[in-house]
Amino acid sequence: MALNLTTKLPLRVVFSQSARLLPSRCVRPASAQRTAPTRQFWSRPSPAQQQIQPEHLVHDASNEGQLDGKPSKHVAVSIDGDPRVFDTVFLRDSCTCAQCVDTSSKQKLFQTSDIPQDLEGICRTVVDKEKGWMVELQWQSDVAGFGPEHRTRHSIDWLRRAMNTELELRGGVRQDERVLWDKEKITSNNKWLDYKDYMAQDEVLCDALSHLHKYGLLFLKNVPESEESVVDIASRIGTLKDTFYGRTWDVKSKPNAENIAYTPHFLGLHMDLLYTSNPPHLQLLHSLRARAPRGESFFSDSFHAAHQLHTQSAFHFRTLCTFPVTYHYHHPTHHYHYTRPTIELFPYPKYSEPTNLAIRHVNWSPPFQGPFEARIGGENQTNIRNYLAAAHAYDKLLNAEENLYEYRLEEGECVIFDNRRVLHARRAFDAQKGERFLKGAYVDDDVFFSKLRVLNERYNGSWLADGVVRQAIK
Ligand SMILES: [Zn+2]
Repeated sequence: MALNLTTKLPLRVVFSQSARLLPSRCVRPASAQRTAPTRQFWSRPSPAQQQIQPEHLVHDASNEGQLDGKPSKHVAVSIDGDPRVFDTVFLRDSCTCAQCVDTSSKQKLFQTSDIPQDLEGICRTVVDKEKGWMVELQWQSDVAGFGPEHRTRHSIDWLRRAMNTELELRGGVRQDERVLWDKEKITSNNKWLDYKDYMAQDEVLCDALSHLHKYGLLFLKNVPESEESVVDIASRIGTLKDTFYGRTWDVKSKPNAENIAYTPHFLGLHMDLLYTSNPPHLQLLHSLRARAPRGESFFSDSFHAAHQLHTQSAFHFRTLCTFPVTYHYHHPTHHYHYTRPTIELFPYPKYSEPTNLAIRHVNWSPPFQGPFEARIGGENQTNIRNYLAAAHAYDKLLNAEENLYEYRLEEGECVIFDNRRVLHARRAFDAQKGERFLKGAYVDDDVFFSKLRVLNERYNGSWLADGVVRQAIK
C-alpha cells in the first residue's frame, strides 16, 4: 500500500493541568469566547486557550466556528495531530443515535434529502467509556421532527476510518490480496481442507474463503457421497445462485446434450454463464463418480495471463479491454444474450498503467460466444483484426503448459473456484467404460463477499470493501 493510512495511531491528546479537569470540553467558556474570537483556521491558541483546551480541539475550517461556539457548516477534528475537516451534512447524515437508526433493524429512520440545506452544527468533544474520544454535535436547522435535545456522536476511531477510506478511494489505491499464479505457484500453494472441518469450524471457513479470494481455487476432501453435499458446502457460504440449470445441476454425458458440458468431449478453458448480466462468482463441483477413464479437469489463472499479456503487449491488452464480445445461449426455451469486453478494469490512478490489481473481471468463454456485432466486421475492419491478434496471444498464454494446473477430481472431492477469474476445462473421457458424475452449484459475488467480510471482521479485525481495508470499529 502506498500510504500507511489505516495504521491505528493513538489519538494525541495533550492537555494542561487545568484542562484535565475539563476533559470533555472543547468550547471555551463564555467569558473566553467573548474576548478573542479568531477567524483563522488552526491558529495558535492563546496561552489562556491552551489552559483549557485539549490539543485535539474541534475547530471550524471556515470561520471561528467552535472557537466562539457558533454553529457552522464545517468542523475540523484533530485526528492523530492533524486537523481533518468534515462537512456537518456528512456528520449529521451518519448519525447512529436511536432516533436516527433503528436499533434492531439498523435501518435509517430519516432520508438524506430530509436534511435542510442550511444545516449547521456546534461541536464539542466528549469521552465515552467504551468508545473513547468522541465528537458531539448539536444542530441548527436539524431534520424536521428532531428536537433541540438531539445530539450526534461520532468516535474519533470512526472518523479516522472514514477519512482514511475517503483518501484511499480518492487516490485510487486498491488493497488486493489476490495472488496471481502459474502451475508451479498453485501447485505449491494449493489448499486442501477436510469437509468436516470446513462445515464445523468458522475459523476454517474464514481461512477457506480468504484462500479462495487470494487464489480463486480451493479443494475439499472426504465429502459425503450424497447429491446434497454440494448444497451443504455452498450453504456454508450463503444462498445458492439459482439459474435455468437449476439450483444444483449434474455434469454427466447424455445423448443430444443441449450443452457441451453434458457430452464426453474435450471442453476447452471457459467460464460459465457469461451470457448473463451477473455471471456466478463461485462454482462448486463435487465428484460423485469418477469411473470413466480420463476426464481430468484443468484450470488457468486468467488474471495471471492478462498480466503477462500486458507485459508482452500493452496494445493487445487494451484491445481486450475495449473490443466487445457477445456471448449467448440461444435455445427454444431460453435465450440469453450479453456483450462484454474480455478484460474489465477497476478505475486506476490517472497517468499510470493498469497493474494486475486493476483487473476486475476477465470474460473468456469461447464455446458460448455468439456472432460479433455485424458493424464490427463491416465498417471497422481493423478492430476485429486487432482483436484476433490479441485473442491469439491471450489464448496462447492461458493454455501455456506452465500456466495450467491439471487435476483429476476423485470421488468424494469437491473443487470450488472463482468463475470470474479461474478458467476451467476438461479433457475428453470414455463414457462407455464407466460413469462420471459431478454435482455442481453456484454462489453469487455478493453472497461470497458478505460472508468473507463477516468472518474477516470477526477473526482479523478488518474487512474489505471497494478495495479499501476498513478497521472494525467498536
Ligand atoms: Zn441522531
